[in-house]
Amino acid sequence: MLKDNIFQKIIDKEIPAKIAYEDDLCLAFHDINPQAPVHVLIIPRKVIATHAELTDADRDLLGHLHLVAVKLAKQLGLDDGYRIVVNCLDRGGQTVPHLHMHLMGGRAFHWPPG
Ligand code: 5GP
Repeated sequence: MLKDNIFQKIIDKEIPAKIAYEDDLCLAFHDINPQAPVHVLIIPRKVIATHAELTDADRDLLGHLHLVAVKLAKQLGLDDGYRIVVNCLDRGGQTVPHLHMHLMGGRAFHWPPG
């Protein structure tokens, strides 16, 4: 699975992205192929390939990513709700080997997901 880490190139500003938020721990940018009217990816600057590789050392970082998602959801007008998704490895549908949280809103989402 998972070959090139294009998100590291976005962190390094080697390729452009529409940045929605950044700080010393993370970066958020609009997805190039949005699946909802609002679709932002929130990624840690730290290289963590996938959700399954998270450790206790990442506890604060994970909390931070979620709190950034809350702030962004407010800023982006997702007052009526949103969906957060983290795809993990092949069967989870992950295509980029750098941990990322999808923040999507602006439409209704269904359950169960596909
Ligand atoms: P995954 O399938 O790994 O959970 O999600 C990867 C996401 O990254 C996809 O929604 C895809 O559209 C997005 N993506 C892939 N390459 C780029 C890129 O170069 N720029 C941006 N902004 N998004 C990308």
